[in-house]
Amino acid sequence: MTCPPPKATLEMIDALPAGPLDARWASPDLVEVRKAGQPIVHLLVTRADRRQDTYIKLLGNTKTRFEVPILNSLSLGCLRRATGYERCDRTCYEDDQGRGGCYASANQYAIQRASVADHYDIVHNAILNDQLLVRLPSDGLAVLPDADLPVEKRSPIIRSSSESSDASFDLALGITQAWAEGNPDRWFLTLCSHHFRLSDAMLCWAAALGNVIGCTTVSGWLSAAELDDRFAAARRFQEFGLPTVIWLVTSRDWANELVLERALELVPPELVVEVPHRSSHHAQELPLFSDRGVSVCGSMRYDADGRRVEFHQGADGTLSRTVRGADGAPTKPRGQVHSRCLNCPTKCGWTALFGHGFGEAPALRRAA
Ligand code: SF4
Ligand code: SF4
Repeated sequence: MTCPPPKATLEMIDALPAGPLDARWASPDLVEVRKAGQPIVHLLVTRADRRQDTYIKLLGNTKTRFEVPILNSLSLGCLRRATGYERCDRTCYEDDQGRGGCYASANQYAIQRASVADHYDIVHNAILNDQLLVRLPSDGLAVLPDADLPVEKRSPIIRSSSESSDASFDLALGITQAWAEGNPDRWFLTLCSHHFRLSDAMLCWAAALGNVIGCTTVSGWLSAAELDDRFAAARRFQEFGLPTVIWLVTSRDWANELVLERALELVPPELVVEVPHRSSHHAQELPLFSDRGVSVCGSMRYDADGRRVEFHQGADGTLSRTVRGADGAPTKPRGQVHSRCLNCPTKCGWTALFGHGFGEAPALRRAA
């Protein structure tokens, strides 16, 4: 590719009306992002051998390890800054002191990419630097490289562009759809911040495949306008017939109840996945709505020895944590406590979808 990727300046981007962006293939090697009809970002596409662990984490990441593989066709940026939504210059969930923002702003990507030198900044990446990757298989085959694994070891669910990007970007380009088409025995989960508008054609394609789950992230942290746009996008998932899950990020500091009520207007409680705010590598709040029938992400927490941590609330409201010692008696956890996907009953909403008739991906349903 010879042409340098043209970029609009932040000032030019800010002069355009706030709202979701559009993405299109300008050529097989170039993705163009537009805002209000104006090209603002061009991204060069790279291609890699799918047997390399460059954009597919078959074993998942530290948290999802052995449970949920991650497809990172898009990574290292979500273009949140370009949308113009209130507080778009902050990572999602940041407090006024800049603490507790999106985990992808400080994870291993930032470290690996020499963040200080390259000015890694998850919301500005691709606007102020070249850090947003689009990676496709060099052989053009969107087939997961795990065919040699026994069936029981192949995860039924794959998370798509959900680690340091926005799955709505991926869906807008048809990337998840291609992978879902190439692997009809799996479910592809799309965690969407809806920074990108989805065309009717792309939604029809996703819905027709039958194995793409439309997930929408909402929270009381978001501005009213952004929240309205996200709920409208979730409603479109439903109108086009995609299995729909609402991911509700909660924190004691936000107005969560109204957002939950809006989510429950769209889906039954079990198809709301509550994600207690994770403010650092080691700190995650507890769920607020588990007595309301919602599903929970992060209910399985483990200590440094890999023992399941249980939480207990005393009569005075104080919280204590215990693990089972070698003799089975409760004892204190050792080291930091982390949530992990291991043994998670929610499985990103798939467990609840199973109860709604989405247990087997279409290829298996057809074969039955
Ligand atoms: S949560 Fe998603 S949309 Fe928000 S800053 Fe992080 S990557 Fe971007
Ligand atoms: S819902 Fe469960 S499996 Fe999915 S990311 Fe959360 S902890 Fe992991």
